[in-house]
Amino acid sequence: MVDRVSEKLLASLVSHGFDVCYKPGALREDVLNIVENYDVLIFRGRLRIDKEIIDRGVNLKVLARYGIGLDNVDIEYAIRKGIAVVNAPSASVISVAELTIALMLIVYRKLYDAIDDVKHGKWLKGKYIGRELYGKKLGIIGFGKIGSRVAYYAKSFGMNIMAYDIRDVSSEISRVGGIQVDLDKLLSEADVVSIHVPLTPLTWHMINDKTLSLMQNESILINTSRGEVIDTNALLNHIDRLGGVALDVLEQEPPRDENLWKLIKHPKVVVTPHIGAETVEAMDRIAEEIVKNILEAVKW
Ligand code: NAD
Repeated sequence: MVDRVSEKLLASLVSHGFDVCYKPGALREDVLNIVENYDVLIFRGRLRIDKEIIDRGVNLKVLARYGIGLDNVDIEYAIRKGIAVVNAPSASVISVAELTIALMLIVYRKLYDAIDDVKHGKWLKGKYIGRELYGKKLGIIGFGKIGSRVAYYAKSFGMNIMAYDIRDVSSEISRVGGIQVDLDKLLSEADVVSIHVPLTPLTWHMINDKTLSLMQNESILINTSRGEVIDTNALLNHIDRLGGVALDVLEQEPPRDENLWKLIKHPKVVVTPHIGAETVEAMDRIAEEIVKNILEAVKW
């Protein structure tokens, strides 16, 4: 294991007879040096699990992503080499969907600034006139596990739902009383745009200068999917006319780029440090799902 995981996962692997080596935060160089000793490599999204690592892992049987996103793994190459690739696709759905709704409320009710003012001794009733989610149009980009759960929660807030997806999701979305639309319609009509697509060549910089131009003034943008789906520099050019932006993911994590910091420090922007799946419950579920999937993959 080369990234931080829950105690529950460590205990569960030991109880299933695995000889566990736990090196959270291991450098790429270290991983390259030790990977040949292991049957299973468990990691998060930090390291690129590419041809070089896979080739060095001469005994690897399973690559296990602690979480959902597999965009850092050369899946095709691993499978070609007979290595199973597993993840925990459902474990963090509820946590990410709940955070998404929380971010909408933080932006609409200006909660970040209101709370910070009170902490600094300022009681500025009257400064924070917010907006309700009720009656607003929510545009969901990517109506998969997380997007559809966000829709379900948003419906109970009285939001009107529309979704854009490359699949036909019209019957799923009609269950929450919403409609499937194309991306241009979604961006030009939504009050709140929330992104839930995986990172793929098609979704890289899907939110760029052209697509941001379609968004209404004062509409808000939430991204809890992958940072690279949004072109940071383009967003900087549009931020002043938008109502607010909340991001749990950035193009570069941790951020070092100057423009990324300009965005983070902008008064209309709220950023959380990729904590979508960081709940006790999600981590417990990841542990269960990962162990089950590893055992199935190796038929232990
Ligand atoms: P999912 O596979 O269930 O759903 C993704 C949806 O996006 C699918 O319906 C798919 O058809 C659609 N899609 C794919 N490419 C598309 C495109 N080019 N245009 C339009 N739609 C497209 O995935 P999920 O479990 O809902 O996860 C969604 C995202 O959330 C992933 O990117 C994942 O990495 C991210 N995530 C973030 C965190 C976090 O900590 N913030 C945690 C878990 C997952």
